[in-house]
Amino acid sequence: MNIISNHMPTAELQALDAAHHMHPFTDNAALAKKGVRIITRANGVTLTDSQGHEILDAMAGLWCVNIGYGRKELADVASRQMMELPYYNTFFQTSHVPAIALSAKLAELAPGDLNHVFYAGSGSEANDTNIRLVRHYWAAKGKPDKKIIISRKNGYHGSTLGGASLGGMTAMHAQGGLPIPNIHHIDQPDWYAEGGDLSPDEFGLERARQLEQAIHDLGEDKVAAFIAEPVQGAGGVIIPPATYWPEIQRICDAHDILLIADEVICGFGRTGEWFGSRTFGIRPDIMTIAKGLSSGYAPIGGSIVCDEVANVVASAGDFNHGYTYSGHPVAAAVALENLRIIQEEKIVETVQNDTAPYLANAWSTLADHPLVAEAKTVGMMGTLAMSPDVASRAAFASAAGTVGLICRTHCFDNGLVMRHVGDRMIIAPPLVIGKSDIDLLIERARTALDLTYTEVQNEGLYKAA
Ligand SMILES: *Cc1c(COP(=O)(O)O)cnc(C)c1O
Repeated sequence: MNIISNHMPTAELQALDAAHHMHPFTDNAALAKKGVRIITRANGVTLTDSQGHEILDAMAGLWCVNIGYGRKELADVASRQMMELPYYNTFFQTSHVPAIALSAKLAELAPGDLNHVFYAGSGSEANDTNIRLVRHYWAAKGKPDKKIIISRKNGYHGSTLGGASLGGMTAMHAQGGLPIPNIHHIDQPDWYAEGGDLSPDEFGLERARQLEQAIHDLGEDKVAAFIAEPVQGAGGVIIPPATYWPEIQRICDAHDILLIADEVICGFGRTGEWFGSRTFGIRPDIMTIAKGLSSGYAPIGGSIVCDEVANVVASAGDFNHGYTYSGHPVAAAVALENLRIIQEEKIVETVQNDTAPYLANAWSTLADHPLVAEAKTVGMMGTLAMSPDVASRAAFASAAGTVGLICRTHCFDNGLVMRHVGDRMIIAPPLVIGKSDIDLLIERARTALDLTYTEVQNEGLYKAA
């Protein structure tokens, strides 16, 4: 067989990919017909594909490449660590310097008394850990019936059995017999789609109080925890009304349940603070982390756990749980170097004081486009809702996502990665994106919106449901 490399013709790579590679969250038969796009390299905020196209990556890969592509420091650290100690486990009463150093660093960065880290290979695995951890915690406290975890419709917590069950994605539940038992979903705080005539503040309170109602209905003695993303990411960058999180926090404090903040996207600067919990005034008992932890340069996730939960679990004998790659030394070393760069280069501060306000202003200019009913940002995340009737926030008559996919295709064809969730367009560019690239992002987004508008009209799709 020939050596498969970037130098092979694109069509040959596509054929091999179609023959042997099963893509996640993809209609693989349709993709095989169309031909996959092959990304060959990247630098800064820009991807290059096998046909030489340069594409501005306004999704930071999958919300993870926070410090941008091409940082040699991370490659050097990985190479050094592989030579020194490529792997050793943390099961056999053994540890190693990368896991020790990263844990101490995370304890320093995390708010409150979140001082203890349990590692996983990904965000999904970390949420599986959380399910077992909170149930084991309550059992250790003599309350084995406190098992139910409350989460939200349209939340995203990963794709393992546990993660997908916590998540509220109906399309995921429909395949493979999910959710697992003892997970309960309440409604999401998506004012744009579900707020009706309520003001955002009224709606935020109403949705938060569903948590209190659920605790009441299920029984406080049966509920272990509530889990949520500070800002729903994969659900469409749903930024909750200002009233939502304070009320959730009040409810968690008033009732004896743990609060898990899934910071997999919001963590490490995405919201303009080190954690989304700081942006929204959340005091979690456990935080899920992954993605930006290593800027995606190595797969690593984890749970940062408060003193009380860690101490109770520690005093209850063995916690019968762990992954071969828990605290993987190369991934941990890469994560540590990533955090050093974020701290020393003041990336969070730059986002907060300079580039996020610039993005907020630039993104809001898209609200004057005839397809756009809402254009909002928080930190380095943006969401833009398209509608055939922007005044009423009406949905399109076509199946949800039809117009979104048209727009995403125009984005790709015009050198921009924006993702669509239904008929929302979302961005989460690398945190290091500069103002001129933000200008370019907005310019290309507007081009894509114009082309989408024309196509939607020509195809007879410019109709409300
Ligand atoms: C991506 C994501 C996960 C899952 O992380 P993986 O590394 O893909 O397993 C969990 N929670 C949130 C909020 C995410 O965005």
